Amino acid sequence: MTYDLISLEKEYVAQNYSPLPIILSKGDGVWLWDNKNNKYLDFMSAYSAVSCGHLNKRIKAALYKQLENIDIPSRAYYSDILAIYAEKLCKLTGMNRMLPMNTGAEAVETAIKAARKWGYEKKGIKKNKAVIIVFENNFHGRTTTICGFSSENLYKENFGPFDGGFKIIPYGSDIEPYIDDNVCAVLVEPIQGEAGIITPPNGWIRKIQKSCKDNNILLMLDEIQTGMGRTGKDFCFQYEIDKPDCLILGKALGGGIYPVSAFLARKDVMDVFTAGTHGSTFGGNPIACAIAIESINILKDEKLSEKSLENGEYLKNKLLSIKSNIIRQVRGKGLFIGVEIDKNKVSARTICENLMAEGILSKETHETVIRFAPPLIISKEEIDWAVERIEKVII
Ligand SMILES: *Cc1c(COP(=O)(O)O)cnc(C)c1O
Repeated sequence: MTYDLISLEKEYVAQNYSPLPIILSKGDGVWLWDNKNNKYLDFMSAYSAVSCGHLNKRIKAALYKQLENIDIPSRAYYSDILAIYAEKLCKLTGMNRMLPMNTGAEAVETAIKAARKWGYEKKGIKKNKAVIIVFENNFHGRTTTICGFSSENLYKENFGPFDGGFKIIPYGSDIEPYIDDNVCAVLVEPIQGEAGIITPPNGWIRKIQKSCKDNNILLMLDEIQTGMGRTGKDFCFQYEIDKPDCLILGKALGGGIYPVSAFLARKDVMDVFTAGTHGSTFGGNPIACAIAIESINILKDEKLSEKSLENGEYLKNKLLSIKSNIIRQVRGKGLFIGVEIDKNKVSARTICENLMAEGILSKETHETVIRFAPPLIISKEEIDWAVERIEKVII
């Protein structure tokens, strides 16, 4: 019996996405197959969650091995793997301590809670007055608190009331004029992903860091999408600074198969969390730990950051050399590339549909940007294969 699965999904599943009309049923490395066995090159990597490729063999092996031992004991007890994972992640990032969560939005919520509590208990901000500086066109997830400080109407309309405590300022701007005694933190994406791979001016993160240091404010970086090698360094902040005060990770940390996120921080910040003040039933479970450990091992052993840097430049140069009058800009770092389309000529959505017909899966962000973010294991030959087809579609 054949089902019309698209109609069935439209009948029974919430319509909070508008998927491209393709039913995926298989994945392996950089490739995906639809239910008619057509093959596609993944140029989106599940919003950068699948950096080490689909069903990565090492991730699978780590999962199966962990399933021989223990599943979810909860954090009511000590674990034989959480500390090992935590040390590894702290050493990788240069941070002192980590707090394990599951989804990105949860880790951002954790960061917000930490920043406020730190603001009251360590900085002496008056009760309920703490402010976090955020940026226009930010994307940090979908909880009510987080959409409350979005500047995108679609994300927030009719989900209020929102409780305040955020100051939204232009991305790339000087934060100094917005600082007062109530500001406890700055929350920022080093490259804005969902906004359309928006890169800030060179040196900007370093400049924000200086303002934060001068004013006893926490610099909190959301590297959920830019982290784990995506931009050509292990973490995008490494282009400009030694380390932030707080770091938020997710997506690729879960090896493409499991939700794993983390909030990392300076010791004095993390220590505002005492027993019972925060938690997560699934956060830091042994399955998640085993997978995250292996995704870090793969990042290092397979030099994914170096590959991302090299192949990102390779792809970017190829895209820049396409003579097309519908491309307005090609931007990004590493294999995190946005192509801005002239919307008077064609919509980004149409381009994505045409790319799909050629065997390449991407996704538009907003109306004008197509994101090219393949798994970091992609080879130059596969990039060549893609560019040949991209050229056909956007010329
Ligand atoms: C995806 C993303 C999030 C939210 O992560 P979820 O796992 O979807 O909750 C937060 N911040 C950034 C920068 C992201 O790209």
